[in-house]
Amino acid sequence: MDSLHQELDITTGQKPSDECAVVGYIGNNAYTNMVFSLKALQHRGQESSGIATFDGKIHIKKGMGLVSEVFHNEFLDGKVAIGHNRYSTAGSKGVENAGPFVISSSTGYIGISHNGEITNAHCLREKLKEKGYIFYSSSDTEVMLIEMVSEINKYGIRDGIKKAMLKIKGAYALAILINDTLYALRDTFGFRPLIMGKNDDGYMVASESAAIDTVSGTIIRDVKPGELVEINEHGYKSIFTINSKIAHCMFEYVYFARPDSIIDKREVFDVRYRIGLKLAMENPVNADVVVPVPDSGRSQALGYSVYSKIPYSEGLIKNRYSDRTFILPDQKSRYDAIKIKLNTIKSVINGKKVVLVDDSIVRGNTMKHIIKLLRKDGAAEVHVRVGSPPIIAPCYFGVDMKTKNDFIADSKSIDAIRKEIGADSLGYITIEGLKESIGMNELCTGCLTGIYPDDIPEGAKPNYT
Ligand code: SF4
Repeated sequence: MDSLHQELDITTGQKPSDECAVVGYIGNNAYTNMVFSLKALQHRGQESSGIATFDGKIHIKKGMGLVSEVFHNEFLDGKVAIGHNRYSTAGSKGVENAGPFVISSSTGYIGISHNGEITNAHCLREKLKEKGYIFYSSSDTEVMLIEMVSEINKYGIRDGIKKAMLKIKGAYALAILINDTLYALRDTFGFRPLIMGKNDDGYMVASESAAIDTVSGTIIRDVKPGELVEINEHGYKSIFTINSKIAHCMFEYVYFARPDSIIDKREVFDVRYRIGLKLAMENPVNADVVVPVPDSGRSQALGYSVYSKIPYSEGLIKNRYSDRTFILPDQKSRYDAIKIKLNTIKSVINGKKVVLVDDSIVRGNTMKHIIKLLRKDGAAEVHVRVGSPPIIAPCYFGVDMKTKNDFIADSKSIDAIRKEIGADSLGYITIEGLKESIGMNELCTGCLTGIYPDDIPEGAKPNYT
C-alpha cells in the first residue's frame, strides 16, 4: 500500500486487524454446524472463508469474502469438518492463501485451519524446498502443514506432531483433520485462544466460545497451551501437553475477541468492564459524560462510568453499513470519511466535558478526527481514556501491526500524543492495571514493551520493519 492510501485507509479502519478464526466439528450436520460457527467468528477475519469436510474423500470450498458470500446453497458431505475465516498477517491476500489447507499423504488426508503466525516460516519453507516439497501459496500455514505431514508420515500422528512442534516457532491455534478424526492443537505459549465444546450433534473446537453458543452448544474447556487433543464423535482425549512458558495475547481481551466469549475462564466483557474501572481509578477527571468510541470502547466506558460516577451515554453513533475498506481520493475527503462512519448525538455532547473511552490507540488518526468532530459539534472539553497501555512495538504472533510507523506512541510522550490528537487530557491504563483487570500475569505484552515471550528469528524481521 502506498503511503497516501495507507494514510487514507487509516481514517476508515485504524484498529489492528484480527488474525483468523478456526473451527473444527465432528458429528452430525458437520457442514451446517461449521457454517454457523464461522459466521459467529466473522469478526476475526473477513478476507476469505473456507470449509473442508471428509467422508472417505475430501470436499473443500474456499473463496474470497465473508462466510455468507462464500457459502450459499451447497452442502459438503462428511461427519468431520474444519473451517477458517482469514485475515492475512503472513502471505498475500489471494484465494490461494485462504484456509483450510489440505493435502493427501501416505497417512491419508491431512488438513489444518490455523490462527496465528509462524515466525520461522521462511526458514522452514527453504529447508522443505531443498527436500523437494512444492508450495502453492505464500502462506505460513502451508509451510506448517507440510512440516507436520512430513513428520507424521515418518513418526505417526502423535510423535510426528510433537516433532513438528519442536521445529515450528510462533503462534498457532489449530483445528486439524486427519481422515475421520479431528484434532486440536495450541502452541506452547497459548498466544491464540482455542476452546472445545459440544452440542446435540457432536463435538467441536473453535477460536472463541461464541461459536459454541451459536450452535446451542456447551463449553467443555480450553485447549491447554502445548496440548494436542484428539476428538471423535463420542468424546475427546488429551494426547499430550508440552509445558512451557504461557503468554496469552493480551489483545484478545482488549479488542479482538467478542465480549460474549469466554477465554481461559474469563468473560471478555467482564475483563473489559474491569479495565474501565481500573482506567477510572488510575486516570480520574472532572467531566459531565462518559462516551464510548463505538463499538470497541463500550464495555470499558461502562466500567469507567461506574467507578467515576460520571453518567454514561452513547454520544457517537456508528453507521454499521459504512464500508470499512473504503479508500478516499484526497486529503479533503478524509474528514468526510469519519462523518460517513460516525455521527454525534448533539444533545449528549453539546457544552459538555466529555470523557471519550476507547479500547486502544494504534496510529491515532481516527481518534484525532473523532475529537475534531466532537468539538465541532459542541463538546466543551474532550478527555481521552484508553483501555490498553501505549502500543510501541510490532506483533510477530498473528496481529496485523508490523511497522514502526503504525504506532503513534512509538517515539512520543503521552503529552505529545495528547497534543497530536487534540485532546484536553489523555490517560492510558498501565500494564499492571491491565494484568490485574485480566486477572493473570501469563500474558504476552510484546507490543507494549518490545520484549517478546519468544525469540523472533532474524528471517521474520525484515518483512515487518
Ligand atoms: S505482541 Fe501484542 S498483539 Fe502480538 S501476541 Fe503479543 S500482546 Fe498480542
